[in-house]
Amino acid sequence: MGWSMNRMIAAVLALVLGTRAGIAQDAGLAAAAGADAQTLVIRAQQLIDGSSDKPRRGMEIVVRGNRIVAVRPVNSAALPPATRVIDLGASTLLPGLIDTHTHIFLQGEDPAAGGYDVQLLKFPASYRVARAVVAARRALEQGFTSIRDMETEGAGYGDVGIKQAVEEGIIPGPRMWVSTRSISSTGGYPLEGYAPEITVPKGAQLIDGPIEARKAAREQLDHGADWIKVYMTHRSWLDAQGNLVSQPTLTVDELKAVVDEAHGWGRKVACHAYNGIGLQRALDGGCDSIEHGLELTDAQVAQMVKQGTWYVPTLQVYYTDWDPADTDAGKRDRKRAAVHGVSFTKALHAGVKMAFGTDVGGFKWSDPIAEEFSREVQFGMTPMQAVQSATSRAAELLGQRGQIGVLAPGALADLIAVPGDPLADVDVLKNVQFVMKNGAVFKQAPSAAPTPCSCR
Ligand SMILES: [Zn+2]
Repeated sequence: MGWSMNRMIAAVLALVLGTRAGIAQDAGLAAAAGADAQTLVIRAQQLIDGSSDKPRRGMEIVVRGNRIVAVRPVNSAALPPATRVIDLGASTLLPGLIDTHTHIFLQGEDPAAGGYDVQLLKFPASYRVARAVVAARRALEQGFTSIRDMETEGAGYGDVGIKQAVEEGIIPGPRMWVSTRSISSTGGYPLEGYAPEITVPKGAQLIDGPIEARKAAREQLDHGADWIKVYMTHRSWLDAQGNLVSQPTLTVDELKAVVDEAHGWGRKVACHAYNGIGLQRALDGGCDSIEHGLELTDAQVAQMVKQGTWYVPTLQVYYTDWDPADTDAGKRDRKRAAVHGVSFTKALHAGVKMAFGTDVGGFKWSDPIAEEFSREVQFGMTPMQAVQSATSRAAELLGQRGQIGVLAPGALADLIAVPGDPLADVDVLKNVQFVMKNGAVFKQAPSAAPTPCSCR
């Protein structure tokens, strides 16, 4: 699948982009920092470096090649001749943002537009790639210079090819950590509800037993997965007492085979888990990050702290597309959101390691990814903690501490600017005006803004 998908991506790109000329500035090809590289200085009224507790004023960032070489007070040192100075005035500079839970191969799941199923049954693979290319660009336009993409939903190893195209500077997009097909068990993932006589595609690679689990992990790692994504729960509903119940999928033994294999490759395992038995198996089996974690018991929170398990809550997506309030599904949707906020607050106060993730793709790529920040603040994070969840903390989850998610000497030159002060109003993070990735300016509104995406 990898070969043909890569060739197809190249063909689709020619159609989608027509030419490489307009996007050459985003090439992930910027020269490594060197004495002969041009020096760039970026100034703005305020600077949030991603790891310090307080913002700073009157600072400038010095970039050479694709690295930050200094963060210092304005005019504290003479500038080399031919230095380009970008003054962003009354803006706040921040590290490029990181979304640790995305799906570039999903385009919302609007029931009126065919929901999830149509994407696997009726979209040609080339069409899905074309839209993934747009999704990657949308992430970068919104200031997300890095993403951890959490599986392709039936599009095979397509994420590996998109990542390659971004790295080679063929298309604009964020740095990507990809997880390819993901793993669940029989009865543990759509497509579902079709006649048993018909074979339909599945959105994940389904396994039964530790041997199949390990083989799936090996295949995915072999074909380029940076992370392994496992579904530890699937359907959810309310029991007679109104409690949220989730169907568990993999057994602890199956999960342990995946985790053991991934760790042997130096890779990590992200586990989708809502609550109950499946979430407990995820913790007992050694998952590195819990995705969603709608309902965490006190004991589970304590276990996460003890084991150093990450929590990627993805709050906002559970406030979208609720079914009507008087239906079973509608009651379940409201219960999910209600318990989620409580779990978030509990985990935050207990010191669980938390990183920003949104599940974008589960909702449309034209919606603001940064909506998640205000939910984080609603449930107890300070605005600075919310910013750090999408910068230095997310970088730590990705094993990239000091490389991304921070404005400091030696870090990669991924940075953004927003008008005003995100510590006073996190919603300004929805209005990213300036984006630099890998030392190259991708967006500088309004003059050098790229053509706005008209995607749905
Ligand atoms: Zn997801």
